[in-house]
Amino acid sequence: MPCAALRNFHNNAMNENPNNTPYVTACPVGCGEALLATNLHLPEGPLRRCARCGQLISAASESRYWETMASFNASGFNQPTPKEVERRRKVAARRLKTLARLTGKSPADTRLIDIGCSRGQFVDFAAQAGFIAEGVEPAQQIAAAAREAGLNVRTGLLEEQHYPDASFDAAALFEVVEHLREPLPLLRECHRILKPRGILIISTGNAASWTVGAMGARWDYFHIEKDGGHISFFNPRSITTIATVGGFSVERIETSRMKFHEKGDVSPPLYSIGKIGGELLNLPARLAGRGHDMLAYLRRR
Ligand SMILES: [Zn+2]
Repeated sequence: MPCAALRNFHNNAMNENPNNTPYVTACPVGCGEALLATNLHLPEGPLRRCARCGQLISAASESRYWETMASFNASGFNQPTPKEVERRRKVAARRLKTLARLTGKSPADTRLIDIGCSRGQFVDFAAQAGFIAEGVEPAQQIAAAAREAGLNVRTGLLEEQHYPDASFDAAALFEVVEHLREPLPLLRECHRILKPRGILIISTGNAASWTVGAMGARWDYFHIEKDGGHISFFNPRSITTIATVGGFSVERIETSRMKFHEKGDVSPPLYSIGKIGGELLNLPARLAGRGHDMLAYLRRR
């Protein structure tokens, strides 16, 4: 079973669900619309879609969700290869550059928090770039490993830290919102701890991508086992909806990447052809806002 902090990861009280039925029944990003079944069939049942904003919601039961979330506190979780660390360093540098442009502040004047920071890699990159960077992570073992590496990382949920109002110039939610049954309370807490006009960066998958058009339910981002507990799938419209309801305006939304197959789904030659096709379509997908990786920069109103 996951640790107590992980059990509270949803940011709100969990109701035990003895019937093992799906436990999200209305659009959680602020529409409140009923969810309609789609033809995207997963082992847990068909994904359901908000008719207004297009948010897709898993039919997974609560017990299945917690079973897969346990992976986040495993001691070997998120230990990237040196090559992957270098890739992440470049990604972080681009994000920090955009962030500095949007805040209009020097790194030394920018207090930044990475929420759900895992081993604190982005905190580390940001600190190396001169930002006043810290993190919070609910998985106890992983947060402890980040502190042992010398990083300013607290264990627990954001709202358990009781930061004063307007503490931060910037906050990051990287690959967090797709795990949340109710993402709005977390967005509102981010709003509270950010200074007026502070920036919130969110990364998540794009369920309105060409990848979903090509692969449908085979896209591994939909698979609850893959990264543990993906249950809520955003698109540019639903990110805009939750931003507006949560008190933010959208500064920019970027999407990138396109693929046709997951590795292992098809023969190696076909996979290579699909991979080349995906790379050729990366730029058009980016320009059309149809890539499957999505990054949103929101400004606190
Ligand atoms: Zn909706």
